[in-house]
Amino acid sequence: MKLAKFIKLKQEEAITAQKEESAVIFLLEYILDLTPTALFERLDKEIDEEEVNKFNFLFEKYLYHNKPIQYLVGKTTFYGYDFYVNEDVLIPRFETEELVENILFFYDKYFKGQKVNVCDIGTGSGAIAIALAKEEKNMTLTATDISAKALEVAKRNAKNLETNITFLEGDMLEPLTTKYDILVSNPPYIPSGENVDKLVKENEPNLALFGGNDGLKFYRIILANASKYLKDRAMICFEHGYDKKQEIEALALKHFPNSKVLTLKDLEGKDRMTFVFVGDFNE
Ligand code: SAM
Ligand code: GLN
Repeated sequence: MKLAKFIKLKQEEAITAQKEESAVIFLLEYILDLTPTALFERLDKEIDEEEVNKFNFLFEKYLYHNKPIQYLVGKTTFYGYDFYVNEDVLIPRFETEELVENILFFYDKYFKGQKVNVCDIGTGSGAIAIALAKEEKNMTLTATDISAKALEVAKRNAKNLETNITFLEGDMLEPLTTKYDILVSNPPYIPSGENVDKLVKENEPNLALFGGNDGLKFYRIILANASKYLKDRAMICFEHGYDKKQEIEALALKHFPNSKVLTLKDLEGKDRMTFVFVGDFNE
């Protein structure tokens, strides 16, 4: 069968199973080890039986056995970079790319040209820390996680993507020993009793998902302890649940009464990121 026909059939199968049709191309690029352009150039060539079998083996796990395509392929794209992922780490999300984009925006606005120390708390795959290190050469990155297995993945990604990051294992801010210009965290923030999509709940590490009864546990811990690890003029950057703007702002002002707090929406129009500017940020 010609590759083009095969793709069409498999996309139809995905739609019938109510899964993403984009998974077909993603998986084929992996199985055939081709770039998107090279795949396009092969469309009118035949796909052989061995390739079909390899494809179907993984595709069925995706369609009928509730497995994320990114874990099956061991890869995802974040901020334009290829990251290795496995069941030990959260699959980085689109919203988190927006967090990175806004951190870079505020860096340019308030720290431009300065060398800054940045710490990513709960780094998982290393997505935020590595993307920042790639995008801004003036940022020196530290990244932490309580999960040794997640740190193994993050270290692998840092090496693959040729970034130099200091990794620390431990609970929230405990492993830190110095002061930072920028603290970043996308901590686990789903309230423990909340219904979570089966694909997420049954595959991604619970340690990466749940943030106590109200989803705010880790913001409380970080904000209560952050002052010890922040320079006089510093920025704290959070991703959070869409309905937590008020609570996070109140927590930030409780611990940093003179700070400026700014919440931004994600592309879906949901309150998703909060930035706390501590110290002198007058324009
Ligand atoms: N930063 C990554 C991202 O944005 O894709 C992963 C975010 S994931 C929502 C939260 C991460 O926090 C997980 O990697 C988890 O292992 C880590 N974590 C959970 N509890 C922690 C704790 N007490 N101290 C440090 N990290 C923790
Ligand atoms: N956005 C993730 C989800 O809903 C949760 C990420 C997090 O807790 N930080 O699956």
